[in-house]
Parts: sequence; structure tokens; C-alpha cells
Amino acid sequence: MKTYWLLNDQLHRNYLKNIKKNKDHVLFIEAYDHFHQHSYHKQRIFFLIAAMRNFANDLKKNGYAVTYIKAATIEEGWSSFIADQNNSETIISMPVDYNQRQKIQQLMQSETTVTFSHNENTKGNFMFSEDELLDMAKNSKTQESFYRKARIKTEILIENKQKPVGGKWNYDTLNRKPAKNITEKPGSLPVYSLNRISKDALSDCQARFQETPGKLDSLHLPLTRKDALDFLDNFIENRLAGFGPYQDAMLSGHPFMFHSLLSAHLNCGLLCPNEVIQKVLDAYQNESIPLSSAEGFIRQIIGWREFVRAVYLQQMPEYLMLNYFDHQHSLPDFFWTADTELHCLAETLQDVLTFGYSHHIQRLMVLSNFANLIFVKPSILSDWFNQMYTDSWDWVVVPNVIGMSMYADGGLMATKPYISSGKYIQKMSNYCINCRYDPAEKTTPDACPFNSLYWNFISRHKEKLQNNPRMNLILSQWGKMDQKTQAAILEKASAIQQSFFPKDF
Ligand SMILES: Cc1cc2nc3c(=O)[nH]c(=O)nc-3n(C[C@H](O)[C@H](O)[C@H](O)COP(=O)(O)OP(=O)(O)OC[C@H]3O[C@@H](n4cnc5c(N)ncnc54)[C@H](O)[C@@H]3O)c2cc1C
Ligand code: SF4
Repeated sequence: MKTYWLLNDQLHRNYLKNIKKNKDHVLFIEAYDHFHQHSYHKQRIFFLIAAMRNFANDLKKNGYAVTYIKAATIEEGWSSFIADQNNSETIISMPVDYNQRQKIQQLMQSETTVTFSHNENTKGNFMFSEDELLDMAKNSKTQESFYRKARIKTEILIENKQKPVGGKWNYDTLNRKPAKNITEKPGSLPVYSLNRISKDALSDCQARFQETPGKLDSLHLPLTRKDALDFLDNFIENRLAGFGPYQDAMLSGHPFMFHSLLSAHLNCGLLCPNEVIQKVLDAYQNESIPLSSAEGFIRQIIGWREFVRAVYLQQMPEYLMLNYFDHQHSLPDFFWTADTELHCLAETLQDVLTFGYSHHIQRLMVLSNFANLIFVKPSILSDWFNQMYTDSWDWVVVPNVIGMSMYADGGLMATKPYISSGKYIQKMSNYCINCRYDPAEKTTPDACPFNSLYWNFISRHKEKLQNNPRMNLILSQWGKMDQKTQAAILEKASAIQQSFFPKDF
């Protein structure tokens, strides 16, 4: 008998392509050590446990022989499996996360009674196999060049083998509209009732994980493959057209905007990128969405998602510890409570605590931007993102934090640091209207803290920034400010830093 061992981020039949239903076996181990790796948000733990149990049950209903083991550790689960089963060969796909991969590799090496084989025939829940991916990434210096290669290789939105449909590779100029331009606000998400398996998973999580952050009272993600497919259709029908123009916009009371919320499903495998992209292409071909929305969304999946996976596979484990600006602060406590007067942060953090979710621009330009401006150590921010989101996996968090958000790799992934003053947040959102701070002020008592912190960052790191042509304009603006203004800004920034980190001053 052969056993196909599926990990908790491999919940897709792609991993079972060569299985012989009447002879082979599928193994799941629900190992609690995984959930203690970080003090994870309750919704992440619940989502993964419920998704895995439902997926195992679906397989059983479809005639697969399934063993589902609950254990304190993955090693304990494995030992109890081999003690009970007449298993001659176990087939496994390597997880992408570094620590998980190390663990599985150690287990494979120490095992003497069972042969392990790599499941080489599958791309699993990615567009490319690991070899294909690393080959494409080898000669792609930027995300944009990787993305174009990926489009050509997959022939997605490509004509005559090489040319982008519509003549352009991206439609960012049409896609960066601020919240104030929105004429029709995003609608609410569909609601899925919990089946018996999900209800049991919920009670287990409520009993076991009382101390971890986040809340379990606003469950918003579907937990079965059937509901996930319906959720995907709902996105295509109701939000995808708005995704293109408003992907960077932020609106109070609308945590999900026109985003898909598909990352948790893509990352655990309940949905596969190919099927998501096919539905987007169908909608574009039926003329229900414009090319700018189709291209903008597809770029996130075949461009960004695959690109960050390549960066992670190429750069770990050293990547996590990079710290180009040598920032050493921890995170202020309000990252776990949302108790702050900075309204953009309070609202975003409240969304994170309630849903284990915020969208990309909130992650990048509100939370990470602020953390960078107050000199938080990148690996500490990475741990926080790993902890707090339903879609978090190390392979996707680490490049997004270390490379994209914090520029801690000195420019390997991003062409410039993603930092901004309050002006950007004011332009892209309506958060500032309800804030006690004034985004137009830099040094007055009510001045938006992002403003002085931003210039303080530029001043502190000007040597490291001056070799980057994309920073020239901003450095020259700082240089042109008179000394009195500069001094007042730096003094204000220092007072703000001191209020967050009194022990360091
Ligand atoms: C600091 C930071 C931390 C992040 N942490 C995670 C994480 O833990 N897990 C995660 O899946 N994504 C992460 N991202 C990427 C991105 O923000 C999320 O994928 C996205 O917000 C998920 O929401 P959505 O499904 O509504 O995405 P949409 O906006 O609808 O985008 C569609 C899909 O594109 C993919 N995608 C888009 N951008 C990225 C990106 N930069 N990297 C990888 N995939 C991308 C996701 O699969 C996403 O579901 C992070 C980004 C930043 C800046
Ligand atoms: S004024 Fe500043 S702190 Fe307040 S919401 Fe706007 S950007 Fe955020």
C-alpha cells in the first residue's frame, strides 16, 4: 500500500494525481505543534483545522481511503500512523515553509521502516513546479521581468506567443484610484453556515486556544471546497470589476473593499491558482470585466505570489535576519490591541483582530510603513504578520515583510522603500477625516505622526538612500528645507518615538 501524506497547506486533489483509489491511502496529521510555532490568531488556527477536516471528509465521501490523526506533534502523529498501518511507501510533497521543510526532511531521514518518495508530478497549489519557478527566477532581476516571463510561459493574456493582449503589460495608470472616486460602495460578503465538522472544529479551537490573539465571533471564510468555489464565483461576479481601479483604496468600515479574500484558500490548497485565473479569464472574455481588472488581478497571482515564493526559496534562511537600515525597535503594544489614536492604524488593526485580515495596501502602506518609520526590527514585524493573519505562511510573509515592506534586503526585491507621509494615506483613504491628527501638519501638537516620522527616516538614512535614483527627488526636498524646519521636524519625530519606546531614550 502507498500512502499520500497531505500537509495542512496541501488540501487539493492536484496532490493526488497519480493515486490509485482502490489501493492507496491518504494521510492527514493534525499536529498541534504547528499551531504553537507562533501565537497564531484564533481564526488562522480555526480556518486551517476546519479546512483540513472538511477536505479529508470530502475525500472519504468520494471513495478515498483516508486516515486522519490528531497529535501533539507531527512526529508523534507519524509514529502512531506507522505503528498501525501496513505502509510500504509514503509519498509527500515538500512544504515551502523553511521550518516545516526541515522538520519533514529530518523525519524522512530518521525513518527506517518506510520508503519516502517526493511527489514530483505536481505543482500543487502553485502555477509552477519548484524547478520551473527557480529556473524562471534565476534571470529575473525584478518582479516585473519575472511576471512577463510567467505570462509568456503560461500564455495567459498573450497573443502571437510574445505580445501582451491589449498592447500593454500593465494598467497601473487606470488602477490606482483613491477611495473618494468610488461611486458604488463594495457589497457584503456571502455567508456560509458551519456544517457539523466545522462546528466541532470551532468548539475544539475555543477550548484549546483561548490565550492566542484575535476573535472567533466574525467568521467570514468558507471552509469547504464547495463553498470556496462559490466564494470565488461571488468575487468574480460582484467585486472583480472594482478590484482593478480600487485595489489601493481604503475606506472606513469596508475592510474587504473589492479584494478577493482568496489568499487563505490559495495558500492551504482549497483553491488552486489555475482555476482562479481561468474564471477571471472567462469573465474578461464574456466582457463582464475590463482588461485592466483582469490583468491587475492575474498579476497578483502569477506575478507577485509566485515571485515571492521564488525569493523565499532562493534566500532562506538568511533572508529573515536581513536588516539593511539596522532598525532595532520592537512593536508598540497597540499592534495587539488596536488601542491607538492614529485612526488609520486603529481601524486596520481592529480589522486584523476581528478577521485575521487586512488588504494589501493596509498591510504595506499603513502597518508596515508605520513600523518602518518607527524603526521596528524587520524580523519582529515578520513574526507579527505570521502570527496575525489567516493567510499567513512563512514563505509569503517573509519576502513581503523583509523585502517588499521593510526594504531590509537593501533592494533585492523592491526598487525603493515603501514609505510615505500621512499624505499618501489621506489621498488613498477616508481615514484622516475621523482622526484627531491633521495630515497637513508636520510639527504642531495635532500634526499627523507619519509626517515627521517620514522626514526623520529620510534624514537618518540619507547615506543609504542616496545611491537610489528613485529617492533623489525626496532627498533633494529634504535638503532644500531650511535648518529650523528640519530641526523642528526631527524634534517632533524624536518626541513621537519616545512616546512609543520610553526605555530607549
Ligand atoms: C507586509 C505584508 C504581509 C503579507 N502577508 C501575506 C501573507 O501572510 N499571506 C499572503 O497570502 N499574502 C500576504 N501578503 C500579500 C498580500 O497582501 C495578500 O496576499 C493579500 O492582501 C491577500 O488578500 P486577498 O486575497 O484579498 O488578495 P487580493 O488583493 O484579492 O489579491 C489576489 C491574490 O493575489 C495574491 N497576492 C497579491 N499580492 C501578493 C503578494 N505581495 N505576495 C503574495 N501573494 C500576493 C494573493 O494570493 C491574493 O489572494 C502580504 C503583503 C504584505 C505587504
Ligand atoms: S491623520 Fe495621520 S494618523 Fe490620522 S488617519 Fe491620517 S494618516 Fe493616519
